[in-house]
Amino acid sequence: MQVFGLIGNPVTHSLSPPMHEAAYDELGIDARYVTFEPDPVTLETALEGADALGVRGLNVTIPFKQDVLAHVEPDELARRIGAVNTIDFSGEGPPTGHNTDAGGALRALERVDVDLEGAGAVVVGAGGAGRAISFGLADAGATVAIANRTEPNAHDLADEVPGASGHDLESVPDLLADADVLVNATSVGMEEDVSPVPAEALHGDLTVLDAVYRPLETRLLREAADRGAATIDGAWMLLYQGVEAFERWTGADAPVEVMNEALRERL
Ligand code: NAP
Repeated sequence: MQVFGLIGNPVTHSLSPPMHEAAYDELGIDARYVTFEPDPVTLETALEGADALGVRGLNVTIPFKQDVLAHVEPDELARRIGAVNTIDFSGEGPPTGHNTDAGGALRALERVDVDLEGAGAVVVGAGGAGRAISFGLADAGATVAIANRTEPNAHDLADEVPGASGHDLESVPDLLADADVLVNATSVGMEEDVSPVPAEALHGDLTVLDAVYRPLETRLLREAADRGAATIDGAWMLLYQGVEAFERWTGADAPVEVMNEALRERL
């Protein structure tokens, strides 16, 4: 039996185990997906132990996405983003580190027919998700404006992302006037009916992706749809980051619909 899993803290309510195990069942892969909450001081030992025990792959979530960089061989994208959410132990050398959040967001955006090449994108949030999504959008050819509550973090990130600019949250309505894409990469809207963007700033030419997936329909997405924008909920990003990890680890085409059903059943 192959073992895959997730390390983070907390991981108790993670949706990744049912999502990945539904895919193993569908394709007849003899594998399990297990969650682990290692103590931060034993992270390196935990990773060495996983490798020694034959664990094939681990997803990584808060608070370890940055810390694992030091213990794996990151690919170029993970190195630029500065965070790893997928570790592959299957090679001969040291485990490799990847970031599938960026690809997950891009594949979620592909659900609506938005052309990112030359698009104007506004990313609200400059934390882990904001970093991955900003690099992903810039690599896809969009011009990215990053707005963050703590403004210096937006400038710091914009300095690293090709062609990007940094802003405070008050600038978002002006930035949105000519924008094609809006991404909420803050936790605003999670569990609470609030939005990081004033409703009046939203318009029908926007495609809006919310990284938040609890609830599925956030206030931002509701207000964006009311104004005629195309909307994509955070479960699509969660799904496609998992799809990318699954395909990397198993080499098989992921049964996307089965994984999507397993995910949405639990949201
Ligand atoms: P993080 O690294 O802790 O960053 C949090 C971000 O939210 C920062 O930009 C922070 O701004 C901002 N923020 C927090 N509270 C705020 C408030 N009250 N007003 C304005 N801004 C606020 O977290 P993360 O990993 O980036 O995650 C952010 C969200 O994305 C979470 O809801 C997470 O669940 C979601 N996410 C979803 C996926 C997916 O696959 N769908 C993947 C990753 C993350 P400051 O810098 O000012 O603190």
